[in-house]
Amino acid sequence: MDEQDQGNNQSTTGRILIIGLDGATFDILRPMMAAGRMPHLAKLIAEGTSGVLNSTVPPITPAAWTTFMTGKGPGRHGIIDFERYDATTGKLAFNSTYEIREPTIWRILSERNKRVGSIHVPMTYPPPKVNGFVISGFETPGIHTEFTHPPELKAEILERWPTYSYQTNWRRRAFGGDALFAENLRYIEDSFRQGAALTRHCGERYGWDVLMVLFKLVDNLQHKTWKYLDPKTAGRYPKRAEMAAHCFNVLDEVLGDLFDYARSNKSAILIMSDHGHGSLDGKAHPNLLLRDWGYLQVKSLDTVTAHIQRRLKRTLDRLRGRTRKKFEANLGLETDMVVDWSRTRACVMHAGMNGFLYINLKGRQPGGVVEPDKYEALRDELAARFRAITCRSLNGETIRVFPDVHRPEELYNCRRDEQPWMPDLLLVPHPGLAVVRRIRGRRAVQWPRLHHLGGTHRIEGVLAAAGPNIRRGHTINANIVDITPTVLAALGVPVPEDMEGKVLADMFEQPPTVTYEKADGKQAGPTGEVFTDAEKDALTRRLIDLGYLE
Ligand SMILES: [Zn+2]
Repeated sequence: MDEQDQGNNQSTTGRILIIGLDGATFDILRPMMAAGRMPHLAKLIAEGTSGVLNSTVPPITPAAWTTFMTGKGPGRHGIIDFERYDATTGKLAFNSTYEIREPTIWRILSERNKRVGSIHVPMTYPPPKVNGFVISGFETPGIHTEFTHPPELKAEILERWPTYSYQTNWRRRAFGGDALFAENLRYIEDSFRQGAALTRHCGERYGWDVLMVLFKLVDNLQHKTWKYLDPKTAGRYPKRAEMAAHCFNVLDEVLGDLFDYARSNKSAILIMSDHGHGSLDGKAHPNLLLRDWGYLQVKSLDTVTAHIQRRLKRTLDRLRGRTRKKFEANLGLETDMVVDWSRTRACVMHAGMNGFLYINLKGRQPGGVVEPDKYEALRDELAARFRAITCRSLNGETIRVFPDVHRPEELYNCRRDEQPWMPDLLLVPHPGLAVVRRIRGRRAVQWPRLHHLGGTHRIEGVLAAAGPNIRRGHTINANIVDITPTVLAALGVPVPEDMEGKVLADMFEQPPTVTYEKADGKQAGPTGEVFTDAEKDALTRRLIDLGYLE
């Protein structure tokens, strides 16, 4: 009788090491494995279960990782983007753990006396108090903050890793050339090595039943170097293609090290991404369309100029040592600065992978102008207009710019009155198009040179698992919402009955006996604004660096 069979009936897998590869896609991993750069990953896949892990709509980091952590979709947990628009005040704010409205895997496991560890998972700042430890993710405003639970872990990390990295750091410099490119890649490779070292160190220090480490910069690497990584274009840039691909050699070494660590702990290994990745081909500007159609009015030039002057002065005051790029990003016309709300019926207030459109509704927004009895008709009209917009793509075919336009209550099966921060419409662009909220330029869709722009997210991410009781050589197709119920079931922990994901019973040699428990209601805990103005500035710069918040 082997060890698993001796355990109690409910538990089929002793421990689980979860490795998050932010934004990973088989479109890159497969060619890297085929080229012999990722032998450890290739072996794991051959020995286990793997397949596509579909992301949330929108396929964006905070929405997707929160969906993983809660086993519920954005309509329940409350996170659809980095930002959140509060229609009652007309203000944008950054999301933090305080906005997650449902219990996470860390809390559920902690309450069952399982030990958990979470390293660099997005949407874990401020760090929740768990039975184990948490090191917050890349939205940590800075190392001056309390970014660990327990708090004393922070000093230990900073002492042991003086160059502790938790954030993106892609630097631009005029004439930086290959040397700067190499430096940027070295930072990413170092972050991979540091992630593995942190995992071993903290895993040993605190013990664990479920331990997770997330490699955020896989996503950053792909955003910045897609054309060098994509087999369709990499051949044109042999030198940089080799430099960028080397990061995957390092990632695989790090994975091999973590696989050894998992095996020595008799742990199963689960690799997952939050979304996939593909080329960024162009940018769509829905607010330009709203302006051209007469739903959105901008302020007169004088008012805008006064705003720009104030902004310019503020920016110059803070400029010291920043690059010109960041300076320009700060100066750009922001939506809330130029929109004349007294004459605007609808506007996209935040954007990225999707556009989040809000109707300026009387009784909801301060100074709303759309009568409540006109709301549904206007929503239908806007959805129809956005769906009908077409353009010529780079290869000459006619495409819909926004093939899907969703009402959130239908998409997420939620009640709008419980989710005041939800947009009125979600605009889903054609794959390869990013949505920009700024009111800039004249063309609603801009297609720069082919593969000029880098990478952007796709729905299809990756899942790979191996180890005790995981099926060998098996392929599955799953959704990110399924992972937490699957992990709970594998550990013999009851699955809250209100979870939207399903247990991936198919993944196991011997499917676990799943038990369900009554949902414990909303997450009780602190709420409200977490970030100071200076921290918001730092986050804004980091997200601009990633190519978001345009
Ligand atoms: Zn991501």
